[in-house]
Amino acid sequence: MAYVIAEPCIGTKDTACVDACPVDCIHPKKDEGDFETAELLYIDPVECIDCGACVPVCPVSAIFALDDLPEKWSHFAQINADYYKR
Ligand code: SF4
Repeated sequence: MAYVIAEPCIGTKDTACVDACPVDCIHPKKDEGDFETAELLYIDPVECIDCGACVPVCPVSAIFALDDLPEKWSHFAQINADYYKR
C-alpha cells in the first residue's frame, strides 16, 4: 500500500513533499521536464515506503494513506500509479 496525492494538488504542486520524501518517490520535481505540464505530483506506489513524512508538509492536505483516501478521490490511486506505468 502506498500514499496517494489527490485533487488538492492540482494547481498547487507545492513540492514540499518532494523534499520531505526519504526515498525520492514523488515526481515530477521542479527540475524535471514535465513539471510545468503535469497536472499534479504523483507518488510511485512501488517505491513508497509508507513513512508518512510527506503528509504534514503538504500546504493543501492533498496526501493520504490509501486507507484514508476520501471516496470522492479514490480514482487518484490509479492516477498516481499510471504516471509510473505501475
Ligand atoms: Fe515518500 Fe514517505 Fe510520502 Fe511515501 S509516505 S511518498 S515514502 S514521504
